[in-house]
Amino acid sequence: MTSIQQNIEHITSQIATAQQKCGRTRETIQLLAVSKTKPVEAVLEAAQAGQKEFGENYVQEGADKVSYFQQNHPELSLEWHFIGPIQSNKSRIVAENFDWVHTIDRAKIAQRLNDQRPINLAPIQVLIQVNTSGEASKSGTDESEIFALTELISSLPNLTLRGLMSIPANVSDHESQLHAFHQLAELKDKLAAHYPALTLDTLSMGMSGDMEAAIEAGSTMVRIGTAIFGARDYSNKA
Ligand SMILES: *Cc1c(COP(=O)(O)O)cnc(C)c1O
Repeated sequence: MTSIQQNIEHITSQIATAQQKCGRTRETIQLLAVSKTKPVEAVLEAAQAGQKEFGENYVQEGADKVSYFQQNHPELSLEWHFIGPIQSNKSRIVAENFDWVHTIDRAKIAQRLNDQRPINLAPIQVLIQVNTSGEASKSGTDESEIFALTELISSLPNLTLRGLMSIPANVSDHESQLHAFHQLAELKDKLAAHYPALTLDTLSMGMSGDMEAAIEAGSTMVRIGTAIFGARDYSNKA
């Protein structure tokens, strides 16, 4: 067994333990393997261990991996999630390659992704990225804009809104982590109550360092990079 396979098994059992600990028995919590900066060989190892969903942060790097697997391993049917910031001049590449986008934070990007989605592809499954910690430096919508953005996305035929995503401030104590995740969960409940016709079933929250708190607060999708693929080398990303 390779170490990537072992890491996936380890994380999967940690997810199950965290889930049982807080009494969430029936729901499934999806593991999104964040493969940014990692080579296709690492993705292939994870895929051979049964992992299907992968997250990428950089538009061109992600699109290159999508094409590589479509051409060389169509039998794996991998599902690709875009989880990085989107500049409008790169939105077309995202619209043409990804199945999911977690980082919708403004109307312009939602509109462009809708308009640029090729008609032969299914709608993009999208999440609104929320800035729960309220830090000006972090990307994400303020709470006040979420309702307007939800209405816009609901009107766009090539986007399907599935829920919310956040990247809270990087803190290590469990209580602060939990507080930020509860905020996102409450917002999703508010949104779901206001728009009962929408199927808002996804809360994308939790990374290698705060997965347990995220699961306790109701995460349905944890985004794990380091704990699967090891530390990242950013030296070629400067
Ligand atoms: C890199 C990244 C992750 C994975 O982080 P790890 O700490 O390596 O697990 C998750 N979500 C987003 C948005 C990221 O950019």
